[in-house]
Amino acid sequence: FDMFVLAFVERLFRPTFRKDDFVVGKKLGEGSFGVVYKVSLSKKRSNEESEYVLKKATEFGAVEIWMNERVRRACGNSCADFVYGFLDKSSKKGPEYWLLWKYEGESTLAGLLQSKEFPYNVETIILGKVQDLPKGLERENKIIQTIMRQLLFALDGLHSTGIIHRDVKPQNIIFSEGSRSFKIIDLGAAADLRVGINYIPKEFLLDPRYAAPEQYIMSTQTPSAPSAPVAAALSPVLWQMNLPDRFDIYSIGLIFLQMAFPSLRSDSNLIQFNRQLKRCDYDLTAWRKLVEPRASADLRRGFELVDLDGGIGWELLTSMVRYKARQRISAKAALAHPYFDRQGLLALSVMQ
Ligand code: ADP
Ligand code: MG
Repeated sequence: FDMFVLAFVERLFRPTFRKDDFVVGKKLGEGSFGVVYKVSLSKKRSNEESEYVLKKATEFGAVEIWMNERVRRACGNSCADFVYGFLDKSSKKGPEYWLLWKYEGESTLAGLLQSKEFPYNVETIILGKVQDLPKGLERENKIIQTIMRQLLFALDGLHSTGIIHRDVKPQNIIFSEGSRSFKIIDLGAAADLRVGINYIPKEFLLDPRYAAPEQYIMSTQTPSAPSAPVAAALSPVLWQMNLPDRFDIYSIGLIFLQMAFPSLRSDSNLIQFNRQLKRCDYDLTAWRKLVEPRASADLRRGFELVDLDGGIGWELLTSMVRYKARQRISAKAALAHPYFDRQGLLALSVMQ
């Protein structure tokens, strides 16, 4: 009850917006269920942000608003700042949900990964300056470690709240210029087991590039949400049995792999990797045995990076990318993994 009152009061004091408060700018993205634009306020009201992101969504926008409201209250730092959501009935195309977030910045992890400068481009945006130090594996590992820590921290926030994202990929990770850290975006496919909201529209395809092998189990066995009270009673048990949070861990593992191995950053090579891994029954060690003997210089460099410090990075990677969900490490356990014992970039910037 208290939580409800709190949520209500908080909602009451937040600014509200209407359709004509905004000037729609550049299109940022377009999925099957909505279009995303950068927008600005037509008349800036005192001490308000001026740049926002607007998603005009179809009927599924209702669930996305609900997820964003919940995340905002329970683990606000994990995701882009959600501002407001409402239903616009005046559109000629039928009812549209409008979702608004603070504009976090122009860089997604996908964009940063595609640059030849990765991971140094990330070091520069995190530290806010270019470091005049020699380039090399150690430094790259430190940057990647810092990114991984931020991603796992955000994911742990969601999972501790009872939310699984189900569409974790570099395109859905944004660098927040305000907090100088990565945040997760796009809760369009997210599930909340604690309240029983677990819905992916039939038309929604989990991204095959980043989805764990159990994707079909997840999408066919949960076509509709159980009624809320039943789900609330059952879900802690379900969580234990199926460990659905480990679906996201697999995706984060693939992102770790792409950061460490430049040759796996392109879509075509990632797809080829997925095929090879499937042939190895999703055993990353078997995959390594298969490709290492005839590996390109690029691929060898990736192995060198994860082998630093006695192979602690490789150990973490193989504990995330595993066939069986229950054998994958959780986000919280991953944060306590010895891979993170060494100082990352943030400690460095505090020291300076
Ligand atoms: P969808 O994938 O359904 O089209 P997303 O929520 O992933 O919608 O947003 C699409 C794109 O818009 C993102 O990949 C990102 O480039 C940009 N974007 C989304 N939210 C923000 C935000 N809060 N700040 C800056 N850019 C954003
Ligand atoms: Mg997206």
